[in-house]
Amino acid sequence: MHNFDEIERLNVNIGDDVIIERAGEVIPKIIKVAKKNSDGYFLPPLRCPSCNSHIVKEEEDVYYICVNPSCPAQFRRSLIHFVSRDAMNIDGFGEVVVDQLLKLNKLHTFADIYKLTFDDLMLLDLFKEKKANNLIQAIIDSKKQPLSKLIFALGIRHIGDKSAKILADKFKNIDNLISAKQEDLLSVNEIGPILVQSVLDFFENEQTLKMIEELKSLGLNTTEPERDSSFSPLANKTFVLTGELSTLTRKDAENIILSLGGKTTSSVSKKTDYVVVGENPGSKYDKAVKLGIKIINENEFKKLTEGNFDI
Ligand SMILES: [Zn+2]
Repeated sequence: MHNFDEIERLNVNIGDDVIIERAGEVIPKIIKVAKKNSDGYFLPPLRCPSCNSHIVKEEEDVYYICVNPSCPAQFRRSLIHFVSRDAMNIDGFGEVVVDQLLKLNKLHTFADIYKLTFDDLMLLDLFKEKKANNLIQAIIDSKKQPLSKLIFALGIRHIGDKSAKILADKFKNIDNLISAKQEDLLSVNEIGPILVQSVLDFFENEQTLKMIEELKSLGLNTTEPERDSSFSPLANKTFVLTGELSTLTRKDAENIILSLGGKTTSSVSKKTDYVVVGENPGSKYDKAVKLGIKIINENEFKKLTEGNFDI
């Protein structure tokens, strides 16, 4: 039931009996209504369940969105995203911490994270001296995250970690990105018009710009480290990752490939150069075998990243 178009298509309502199947190997997916037990239709809410603001559905988009930029539910979600592993990576800053700090009225913008004190953290459930110190240190460490992580953390609509990295590599620091004109953004490969508009809209907001200035004055890095472009052993190579790697997360591996000039795709095709296989690989492994694509393990992948193709 991932969106209301689907609910309407299936004409499914609370109380109906449905037939489900496994989709994407785990997620239960409703195939059809088996027995209609309800009257009428399940309708989208007219107002946000969190802040009671109006809800809009943009054309060509299936999602209903609360238009209130200070919607508490959205802010909570954006905080959880900001501190998450693939974003600012603040270890120990989970949902429970976010919820308690919101309740204590300590967080109003992302910048407030960097103003938290030891005493603030000691107010949290189960926090003793050591845990509070560790979290303070994790917050300080996160200030060094590269621009690409910060862009992703900001939660600009449609900007995932890949496009964040592309933007960071292109603009090098946040001021360049903020002052980028539409044509500058459009000239970036792989950044389409929808993403461009989203970036422009995001940095148009006065509050956002103020918050970013605050992040800078709190000592956050807002630049992308120069990568040695002369070392790109994976240039023009396309990778598919499947299964769990033991020393790298999926995102880490993707970032390494990207930083060394290669790219990753989600499905195996004749254009794939390498399939990197970890523990419990999925159907991509079988497809690679079928198509005769070079299959490598984690160690072999590491050799490749060092420019050693003798595998
Ligand atoms: Zn809302």
